[in-house]
Amino acid sequence: MTKFPVSSYTAPSDLLSGRVILITGAGSGIGKAVAIAIARYGATVVLTGRNINSLENTYDKIVHQSSPEAVICPLDLELATDADYLELKNRIAIQFGALDGLVNNAAILGDRTPLNQYKSELWEKVLRTNVTAQFQLTRSLMPLLEQSSHGGSVIFTTSGAGHSSLVFWGAYAVSKCAVEGLMRGWAAEQENLGKLRINAINPGATRTAMRSKAYPAENPTDLKTANQIIWAYLFLLGNDSLGVNGKTIYAQ
Ligand code: NDP
Repeated sequence: MTKFPVSSYTAPSDLLSGRVILITGAGSGIGKAVAIAIARYGATVVLTGRNINSLENTYDKIVHQSSPEAVICPLDLELATDADYLELKNRIAIQFGALDGLVNNAAILGDRTPLNQYKSELWEKVLRTNVTAQFQLTRSLMPLLEQSSHGGSVIFTTSGAGHSSLVFWGAYAVSKCAVEGLMRGWAAEQENLGKLRINAINPGATRTAMRSKAYPAENPTDLKTANQIIWAYLFLLGNDSLGVNGKTIYAQ
């Protein structure tokens, strides 16, 4: 696992100028903070998520900071079909012609319960949202990422729960192991083609709604904020990570 000190990467202010980057779960949590930050560094951000009001709030914040105007594309990862992904791809193709970055950020926690008691319906919902949808979305956007003149960058989001034998993490832990495997497989397939880089970020304990749900007794103010891990996303989306492929950055 590649580990960078938080303070080690300072991005130039125009790092993402002229780039189009899609992020899932852009209406709240880490995804919202990343969307606003990458817009500040010059990116036109395609905001996707299932809650339009939240996406509009992120959009307004991007407008307020005078960054390039974002685009809202509602997308429910639990319910989306191949036809929805194709429609999204076609919309981006018509509007921008290419895609420079994809941040697979959205996920759900599911229940923190013993595997023996895990409900099948929830199991499928977690794996569909956290793994299958990310595969389908990434696969459908690949042709546009390959058209990027900057070298397309794909980021998946992993978690410590996918690395350790933590109890009661159920489908979430399994989904994060799978995402790590998906990233590694895709990165290996791209290695010799040289067009794309495919990596992952493990945000580490970060102050969001998901973290509060997972650790209700924890004091959120003891945790770092999403804004403190933006450096990892900037690094992987910008030119300084050209040639970095198949790595997981632990954003602690
Ligand atoms: P949040 O729960 O705060 O945000 C998750 C985002 O995913 C929300 O924007 C949510 O939208 C969106 N989302 C959930 N389900 C769907 C769906 N069906 N379709 C589209 N969007 C959906 O979580 P975090 O910001 O904390 O997590 C972001 C990523 O970081 C996740 O992959 C998580 O696993 C990972 N992570 C987080 C850690 C932490 O400590 N916070 C630690 C390790 C990993 P909505 O607003 O509608 O709910």
